[in-house]
Amino acid sequence: MHRNTPEKFWGRVDRNAPGECWEWLGSLSTEGYGQVGYAEIPHTQPVSTHVVAWWLTYHSLPKGLHLHHVCENRRCVNPAHLQPLTPREHIRAHYGDRCIRNHEPNWLQRPNGRVCRTCDAERKRAARARGAVK
Ligand SMILES: [Zn+2]
Ligand SMILES: [Zn+2]
Ligand SMILES: [Zn+2]
Repeated sequence: MHRNTPEKFWGRVDRNAPGECWEWLGSLSTEGYGQVGYAEIPHTQPVSTHVVAWWLTYHSLPKGLHLHHVCENRRCVNPAHLQPLTPREHIRAHYGDRCIRNHEPNWLQRPNGRVCRTCDAERKRAARARGAVK
């Protein structure tokens, strides 16, 4: 892994206006994140480019927290679009809050909106028990 410098790193970013997405122009991982080696970051190598961008801006990483893309653009490395979240908050940010019965967030996408998978399964089980569904 070749050594990166802040200049090299930002040189491969399409830096737009402060509020816009800054897209990584280098190669992407299969998950759609930019990945680079960055020796100064105390992290397993290679690291995601948005983590590097955060590091270069704040010179530390929030311990045990995930950096969530508020803009949901995985190529984006704009620190203003990154939000440190606990792993639990991170799941919630992606899958929404718990259902009215307080199940773990696990949503089914239906044409008329999302449905809690656990509630859906319970409803089907109850219907079967009543003999409504054969
Ligand atoms: Zn963005
Ligand atoms: Zn996220
Ligand atoms: Zn539910």
